[in-house]
Amino acid sequence: MERFVRRLKDMVKLPEFDSFSKVLCVQPHPDDADISMGGTIAKLSQKGIRVYYATVTDGSAGTRDESLIGEKLAEIRRKEQEKAAEILGVHELLWLGFEDLGDYSIEQVREKLIQIIRKIEPDVVFTVDPFAPYEVHPDHLKCGMSTAQAVSLYKLPKLVPGTTNHNVAAIGFFNTAFPNTFYPIEREHLNKKFQAISQHRSQFDEKSLQMLFYYLTEKSRAYSPTEDQLVEPFKVLPPMALHVISEAHML
Ligand SMILES: [Zn+2]
Repeated sequence: MERFVRRLKDMVKLPEFDSFSKVLCVQPHPDDADISMGGTIAKLSQKGIRVYYATVTDGSAGTRDESLIGEKLAEIRRKEQEKAAEILGVHELLWLGFEDLGDYSIEQVREKLIQIIRKIEPDVVFTVDPFAPYEVHPDHLKCGMSTAQAVSLYKLPKLVPGTTNHNVAAIGFFNTAFPNTFYPIEREHLNKKFQAISQHRSQFDEKSLQMLFYYLTEKSRAYSPTEDQLVEPFKVLPPMALHVISEAHML
């Protein structure tokens, strides 16, 4: 079995991040990509790689203050994301506008994402891992699954009329329990990520920010092969691994 998986790994040949020219990050809420791959985004955009964000929900439910729920909070969070994206060098923000913790379906999100993939033609699509064993947030599960389905099916006219000759080389899952790629970042990229996360003031007070920074710093050290290197972990797969290939979790 081990030999078989090794051969499969040789066959799929995952692309190098630095070889990308366009990257699409699909996130459930404003702040998820900043938190989970902000260092990578800072580094990629510094290299001249175009990074696009597609945010699935409006973030309008991310509060305990009932008077803020809805358009008021959505507006605040949109501005927070704009500021954070500027710090990380994100090229463009796309808003799908589904209601945070709302009643929307995977199929509805998938349709919009197929249109976005055909238009932007990214080399890689990043998103949250919907297969992470203990992830329960419905927006995260729907975002990850609809993105994975879109990356698997974007060429088929049945779901959205038309097609494309563009090839997406890979999907990269963050917040994953099965990482196979550890992208090295520098301290300056981690600092930019923290600066970006700090823009989401509606989500974090000073104490929770400090706790989050501690967790993220230790995490980027823990997944690294050497003590002094910082990394961000991903599960990267070619789109063909998203269907039928039952060994995908081992790749
Ligand atoms: Zn989220």
